[in-house]
Amino acid sequence: MIKKSFIGLAKPRLMYETLESLLPEPQNIAIPEKVTLLLETDPALLSGGQGSIKEKDKVKTGQKLTLAEQNAEYVIATVTGTISSITPFTGNFGKQYIAISIAAVPDEEINGDFAKVAEKNLFNGIRDFLLSCPGGIPRPLFSENRGKVKTLVVCGIDNDLLITTSQHMVKAEMNSIKDGIDILKKATAAEKIIFVVPRHLQHEASAADASIKIIDLQYPAALPRMIMKDVLGQVVPAGRTCEDLGVFFISAEAAASIGTAFKNGVIPLNKKITVIKKDGTATVVSARIGTPLSNIFTALNINLNEKDRIILGGPMTGSAVYSTEHPVLPDTDAIIIQDSLAMPSVSDYPCINCGECIRICPVNVPINMLVRLLEAGLYQEAADEYDLMACIECGLCAYVCPAKIPIFQYIRLAKYELARLQVEEEA
Ligand code: SF4
Ligand code: SF4
Repeated sequence: MIKKSFIGLAKPRLMYETLESLLPEPQNIAIPEKVTLLLETDPALLSGGQGSIKEKDKVKTGQKLTLAEQNAEYVIATVTGTISSITPFTGNFGKQYIAISIAAVPDEEINGDFAKVAEKNLFNGIRDFLLSCPGGIPRPLFSENRGKVKTLVVCGIDNDLLITTSQHMVKAEMNSIKDGIDILKKATAAEKIIFVVPRHLQHEASAADASIKIIDLQYPAALPRMIMKDVLGQVVPAGRTCEDLGVFFISAEAAASIGTAFKNGVIPLNKKITVIKKDGTATVVSARIGTPLSNIFTALNINLNEKDRIILGGPMTGSAVYSTEHPVLPDTDAIIIQDSLAMPSVSDYPCINCGECIRICPVNVPINMLVRLLEAGLYQEAADEYDLMACIECGLCAYVCPAKIPIFQYIRLAKYELARLQVEEEA
């Protein structure tokens, strides 16, 4: 629900969607003929290492795929079939992946390696097989050199508008979430687990062995740094992360994936996704990770015109993708299709210093000054002089900007570039 006020009169109130009654079962998308899995790793590994996978290799569903034995990054095969291609893939802001495509066969065979490890060790079972399962498990939580987990926050609400995937999980799969929370408690030795949910899901959530906290429904209350401030009473200093303070976040869907995996001895592979169509109506679907978006559109009878926009994620923080062959990822919680005729126009007007962005910013970033440095590509200066790193990435500034400056995209690009430069310097 989005209620936008007249500019200058009052702050817009952006409310999270609520799922009061149980939606029908998610619509199942048939297993596609080909899946593509994105492995976040150095493309230099494509030259091949010992034990690396290669084209024409046969793989089973649930098999761990790495490009080199010594490389910790992996994806899990979500179908049985033959690897048809292994190619470099460039994501948002030039982020590098390797795309592994598998041509599926109808007779599915399940790889049993997870079941063997899971029997012996919860931590290794999750770290070595479940990081790319539906919901996406945060890698720092299962890093060998992380510090103590003081608080683990399980999110029963999505952090962007219009998306109801997490609420759907709480309503439909609470038993699996409960099991997952029990396993997470043992595997991470978390001192405290809290489960954040909207008030109308308090009853369902109370089945879990966790401290239940009610989240405000006004955006951006469900963003991690807002939960840190409003629920945990901790402000994350600029340039630090929640993990630096010993607080880790995981989605309700990821917790459910862990619960299901250990109960059945099989890795879950179907991602629940809220699909928001051009007319604003929403449907929840269940699709294998790696399914091309085009298969979902066909199943839902969604016709795309040339300039329609596809956004992965919510309206405030999601990112546009440019191909209907883009695959479903472990953390694809929503797909929004925007009609080209209804899209907000983009302008190249300069900042008019109206101050709307500053009034709406929850952390008081001086955006009107920041944006000037970002437009000039002066990222380090933006961090040093105008609090770039204090931004919690809510997207509200871009939403209210009358000059339609893509401030949020500038901010994300600047943070990405600074992080990349830091990694290069450390190397
Ligand atoms: S995205 Fe914009 S409004 Fe939101 S915290 Fe960052 S600077 Fe402030
Ligand atoms: S960036 Fe946009 S919202 Fe902010 S002061 Fe300039 S014109 Fe106004």
